[in-house]
Amino acid sequence: MKTAIAVLLLALLHGSSPYWRHEAMPPAIELTWTPPQPIQGSIVHLTVRPDTLDPGPDVVAIKGVMARQALHFEPDGNGGFRALAGIPVNANDSIRLELTFVNRTGSSERSVRYLPVERGEFTTIQLSVDPRFVDPPDSALRVRIAAERDSVRRVTRLSHATPRMWSESFTLPRDSRLTSPFGQRREFNGEVRSLHLGTDLAGQVGAPVAATNRAVVALVGDFYYAGGLVYLDHGQGLMTAYLHLSDTFVAVGDTVERGEIIGSVGASGRVTGPHLHWTARYGDVPVSPLSLLDLETFSPY
Ligand SMILES: [Zn+2]
Repeated sequence: MKTAIAVLLLALLHGSSPYWRHEAMPPAIELTWTPPQPIQGSIVHLTVRPDTLDPGPDVVAIKGVMARQALHFEPDGNGGFRALAGIPVNANDSIRLELTFVNRTGSSERSVRYLPVERGEFTTIQLSVDPRFVDPPDSALRVRIAAERDSVRRVTRLSHATPRMWSESFTLPRDSRLTSPFGQRREFNGEVRSLHLGTDLAGQVGAPVAATNRAVVALVGDFYYAGGLVYLDHGQGLMTAYLHLSDTFVAVGDTVERGEIIGSVGASGRVTGPHLHWTARYGDVPVSPLSLLDLETFSPY
């Protein structure tokens, strides 16, 4: 009798081991995403729902990782959980998604899924700019450029700890012509190659630039390549930035509303003429800002 109880107890203990559970009984969930065909360099909206036929243990929270970025799942008010994720511009034809389900009992189960990724259509163009932007920078300039890069990295990391600031859909920062697409491969003066990790919108110097959604201002500066700039932290890892500005009207820590004028179009930094360079990123992953426009709205924060 004692032996039977011991064996039963052992089986129960074994049963609560996440590894064993993962092997024997993967969490019964339904994973969906929009858009249905995620593209390289875009944002994707994930929804996880317990399988209605086999609900399994109550899931109270979900953690996730994609492209080395933490995902911020939140209840969707409909029994499921939703989060955004960024697909890198150089992603292969599928991308790994790690999910951890935390159950009511406090135990957790892991599951690995793969999302299909479609190739982006990225073109190559030749550009001519002031030689000082393609000559190897001197050491003082290298220090400046590295410091500017570090400050962007820092605010990007901090964004993962910012609560979601927005609930309405994203809008364009300007109602103007799109002059250069995200993902374009560029040769500057026939020498330097770079990937255009933003979307350019036409505008004369002084034309207004609006916040594309509610956010807290994370960075305001005048950078060597980017010129006058504003970085907006929309929370949960999502940021947008507005570059080459001639003027800025906000300060770090300000909360800005969707459509609020945050600066003016300019021609500062590495440019061929006045325009707005608009970027978006999920954590460290740059994505096409146009992909934000298609996002479903979230419940109020
Ligand atoms: Zn640009």
